[in-house]
Amino acid sequence: MASEFDLIARYFTRAAPAGLLGVGDDCALFPVPPGEQVATSTDLLLEGRHFFSDVDPRALGHKALAVNLSDLAAMGARPIGCVLGLALPRLDEPWLAAFADGFHALADAHGCPLIGGDTTRSAHDLAISVTVFGAVPAGQALRRDGAQAGDDIWVSGELGAADVAYRLLDGQYPADPALLAATRGALEWPQPQVALGLALRGIAHAAIDLSDGLLQDLGHILAASRVGACLEYTRMPVAAALASLDDALLRRAVLGGGDVYQLCFAAPAAKRDAVDAAARAAGARVTRIGQVRAQAGLSVLDGQGQPMAALPAGFDHFPAA
Ligand code: ADP
Ligand code: MG
Repeated sequence: MASEFDLIARYFTRAAPAGLLGVGDDCALFPVPPGEQVATSTDLLLEGRHFFSDVDPRALGHKALAVNLSDLAAMGARPIGCVLGLALPRLDEPWLAAFADGFHALADAHGCPLIGGDTTRSAHDLAISVTVFGAVPAGQALRRDGAQAGDDIWVSGELGAADVAYRLLDGQYPADPALLAATRGALEWPQPQVALGLALRGIAHAAIDLSDGLLQDLGHILAASRVGACLEYTRMPVAAALASLDDALLRRAVLGGGDVYQLCFAAPAAKRDAVDAAARAAGARVTRIGQVRAQAGLSVLDGQGQPMAALPAGFDHFPAA
């Protein structure tokens, strides 16, 4: 029977890059370049709440880190390293090996080595906590509070697929194997937009990553920046796989669907070419979906230019002042 220390050695200990002290001591150590700030964020994923118990462990390892890298992306921070807290209800080595593979593969792809953590037995469910550390030149982070009236509002990637996959897996929609096959990757293998976040420094006024749905998350930028916004529904980059969905479900998925892990950002209209160039350099797709307004509130116009009623849940939480 493997001990806690065997598990850590087998699955979570990798040689740390030069200059970092990784797994094996009481703390990890990493240098902070002069003139830079450390950006840090943590996300807790609970079985049954944030992932299904039978999810592919490789995908889960990927996603546990991806949702954290997405927070660094939203700040325009360059990844330095991460730590992993694991509460395991049982010792399942094939499961752990696959989880670690998914985790390390994404960590390697983003230069974000696992440099520490904690491993413990859980009485019931599986819990995963990841904390990331990144670096950003002092004062240059993309915060939520910098949007200005007249700014364009942009979103990266496509919207809606993760929400549809979640509702299919959760049994809220009738089984549709083709639709699930076309949407599941968006839910289980989100790709954090780190390169785009870095490229938007000095261009975007404010940014956020989409974890709880476009309207809700954009609402956080608007509240922090004390502004409002008007979006155009027909501009939304809807995932092609959703073409057959009925209008109400599609609208809910696109405007309210979570687990997107794309960036929503505000940038001055004078910087449209710079945004396009940044996206090209980062290999990302970006779409202009609306505009920041001085007046508080968030509206979405339909194809006729009329404000849409009954926006997806979460909308009521938006501040009107
Ligand atoms: P301590 O008792 O000082 O907390 P531990 O025995 O918990 O130390 O951990 C030993 C080493 O292994 C530490 O460097 C810790 O950061 C690392 N570690 C423990 N669990 C994990 C994990 N799940 N992922 C990465 N590193 C881990
Ligand atoms: Mg410990």
